[in-house]
Amino acid sequence: MRRLRNVKIVATLGPASSDYKTIRALFEAGADVFRLNMSHGTHDEQRARYDIIRQIEVDTGRPIAVLADLQGPKLRVGTFAASAADLEEGDKFRFDLDKEEGTNHRVCLPHPEIFAALEPGASLLVNDGKIRLKVEDCGPDFANCVVTVGGTISNRKGVNVPDVVLPLAALSEKDKKDLEFACSMGVDWLALSFVQRPEDVLEAKALAKGRAQVLSKIEKPAAVKAFAEILEVSDGIMVARGDLGVELPVHSVPPIQKSLVRKCRAAAKPVIVATQMLESMIESPMPTRAEVSDVATAIYEGADAVMLSAESAAGRYPVEAVSTMDNVAQSVESDPTYREVIEASRKANRQTVADGIVAAAREIAETTEVAALCCYSQSGKTVALVGRERPRVPIIALSPVAATLRKVCLYWGVHSVHCDYLERFKSAVVNAARAARDYGYASETDQIVVIAGVPFNVTGSTNILRVAPCDERLIYSQDPE
Ligand code: PGA
Ligand code: MN
Repeated sequence: MRRLRNVKIVATLGPASSDYKTIRALFEAGADVFRLNMSHGTHDEQRARYDIIRQIEVDTGRPIAVLADLQGPKLRVGTFAASAADLEEGDKFRFDLDKEEGTNHRVCLPHPEIFAALEPGASLLVNDGKIRLKVEDCGPDFANCVVTVGGTISNRKGVNVPDVVLPLAALSEKDKKDLEFACSMGVDWLALSFVQRPEDVLEAKALAKGRAQVLSKIEKPAAVKAFAEILEVSDGIMVARGDLGVELPVHSVPPIQKSLVRKCRAAAKPVIVATQMLESMIESPMPTRAEVSDVATAIYEGADAVMLSAESAAGRYPVEAVSTMDNVAQSVESDPTYREVIEASRKANRQTVADGIVAAAREIAETTEVAALCCYSQSGKTVALVGRERPRVPIIALSPVAATLRKVCLYWGVHSVHCDYLERFKSAVVNAARAARDYGYASETDQIVVIAGVPFNVTGSTNILRVAPCDERLIYSQDPE
């Protein structure tokens, strides 16, 4: 089983995709990474999904990455006596700390820190910015507002306050519990919501203790400003366009997306483009032309992965949504213009020996005589460098470390294959040749490029490059030792 594209697909699991049959169908349709959204559902529900994913790994023999997305300091209103309130433009509406159920005139907003930071004139946005209010008067426990864009507010809808910097901790008590739960279960990636500063990421990393990679969701104006510092300490990035497009004018999202994708590639860190990619497929088996174009744009830009949220978690057509992304990816990646764009945006980064080996490996691998670029890696670090090169030939990552094989499922173009702990470079060559043949990337008469590091089983030592035949007898006869 192998993919016929390089960009990866992240599919969120939820009520529409919680049984073995559906998750397996999502995997077979093309999902490389499954996202567990900790904002919804119980730990038992998440664990049941997690166990199914690991069972699918066993049944298909393919590594799969699991990403647990922590809710973060998401602000929400309380509940209403009538479950909802209809607001019209010009209406007065009050937020306060009173636990009493809400009415058409007020509701609880159980976050004193918001009231402390608000000022008259600030905007309060509810339900992904669909409803807008302006603060007229406020104090330590209330804000009297006027509705500027009306709509229906229902129980526990999310609130954004883009105009003020909130002194909120990046990880709530719930997040800390969810993080520990996810790490002890064995997830490969953690996503942090509403990151504002690099310290937020460091705090999560300290709690994760290396058990999972930490990916920062960029969805606050403050995170866009501090992006360089946040990228430096993160293992990956998500362009979280849902909240970003609420906190900032929606038209500012495409340029930010382009810039973040390029910076992540330059840093050899994976980047996911997320939210509303195929939104209409929640209800319809066919995407809109604009949605297809949006997915295509993210792929042309060189994103490592594109993501489905409600489309796969709660929609009516989860499998069709994954197939749609897979089809768009194959179409874009076979376009010669795609290659031109990818080549033109490659940055020459030649600081270390590993950078040089990887660049040379790509150049040799792209000659007509080579079928695949294979990389033996403990930590996956070299694999990320190979991915940054965006080579024209398939990338095969070989590792004895299950966590490495899983985490690299998020990286552009990487097909990961398990092998034993190896003592010698020749064993890596033999394993690489076998993997290239087994998965249909090469035939006996092809050659491959293999890179690795000596001494073996030491991270970050990449220093060997070998062009090798795929025929094992030839490998042994060329190098009898
Ligand atoms: P969410 O994050 O789906 O957890 O809100 C993604 C986004 O905001 O785009
Ligand atoms: Mn979000």
